[in-house]
Parts: sequence; C-alpha cells; structure tokens
Amino acid sequence: MKPYELPDLPYDYGALEPHYSARVLELHHDKHHAAYVKGLNTALEKLSAARDSGDLSAIVGMEKTLAFNLSGHVLHTLFWQNLSPTGGGRPEGELAAAIDDNFGSFDAFKAQLSEATNSVQGSGWGSLSWEPLGQRLFIEQIYDHQGNVGQSGVNLLVIDAWEHAYYLQYENRRPEYTEAIWNVVNWDDVSDRFQRAQTLELVTGAR
Ligand code: MN
Repeated sequence: MKPYELPDLPYDYGALEPHYSARVLELHHDKHHAAYVKGLNTALEKLSAARDSGDLSAIVGMEKTLAFNLSGHVLHTLFWQNLSPTGGGRPEGELAAAIDDNFGSFDAFKAQLSEATNSVQGSGWGSLSWEPLGQRLFIEQIYDHQGNVGQSGVNLLVIDAWEHAYYLQYENRRPEYTEAIWNVVNWDDVSDRFQRAQTLELVTGAR
C-alpha cells in the first residue's frame, strides 16, 4: 500500500497574513502536520509487523496511535482547505439556510463554534459537522484529534485549537486567534463539502 503523504498547502505561507502569520503557517504545515503523516505511516508499519509476527500484544497502544495520527492528518488537510486568502464573510445559499435552521442564526452558530474552540481543555479542535443519520448540522468539540466525537460526523469546517496553531503569533490569546480565523474561512469550500456530505446515506443504508 502507498504511504500517506503530506499535501502541499493550497496557498503560500504568507497568503493568510495578517490573520495567520507566514512563520506559524510554515511551522504548522511543514513540522506539525508532517509529524502526523510520519506517525501515521509508522503506526501502519508497526501494525503490519505485528500481524506478520503474530504478536498483537501491543494492539491497544498501536490502535490509539493510529487513531491520533490519522485524525491529525485528516483534520490538518481539511483545515488548510477550509482557509483562503480571499475568505471571510458569511456563507450563502443552502449552507446559509441550513445554518439558520440548525443554529437559529449565523451569529449564534459563530458564537457556538468560537466558544467550542476557545474552551477546549488541553489540545483539540472545534468543528462544524454534518450528521448523516439525523440529517443535521452540529458542532463538535474534539479532544486531541480524535476524542469526544460522535461516530457519524462529517467535518465541514474545523478550527485548530492546539497551542502550536497560534501561540507564536497570539500567545495565550486563543479567542483573538479564533476571531482572526473567521476572516479567512473559505465558505466556497465549506459549502461544497456540505453539498457532498448530504449525499452520504452510509448509516441508514438507504439508497
Ligand atoms: Mn495543528
């Protein structure tokens, strides 16, 4: 099987300034995201070796490491695409209507996702997700990269709340960082994900 690879950023390091500094973005992508990809491939190699040897006694730790690094890779890949130098503002069309239906208003949605992101204890993420079983939007507060989530959620818009995501630029002021991220949200990308997520009927098995 082909190893996982670190995807290129869809824009230059400095493209999101002043909201997100070039240096933080470079470190975040080239070092932190890269480490999750490496950790993911290493975890898969260890599981393969364990299968070959027949010694699965370390399976608990290996599965946890797999979940952590896979989720870290997925969330960072999504995060870069959720942002754009020409982002910001508000969503339009069906996504805007769905946000109003599910959260009451865009402002109420923004307040909830911001607070979910700002109040993560330790490391984690805030996420706007699609729940295919109940066909609704909801907000998840993710611990680390993989904890505290419903099993069906499809992440549409994620905000990284790990200190490595903001500390060099915003120091301890996580809410200031979160507020800045809203200025570069790529709503076209989020809307596109929303459209595609609604076609998922994997949970009910309906066709
Ligand atoms: Mn991160």
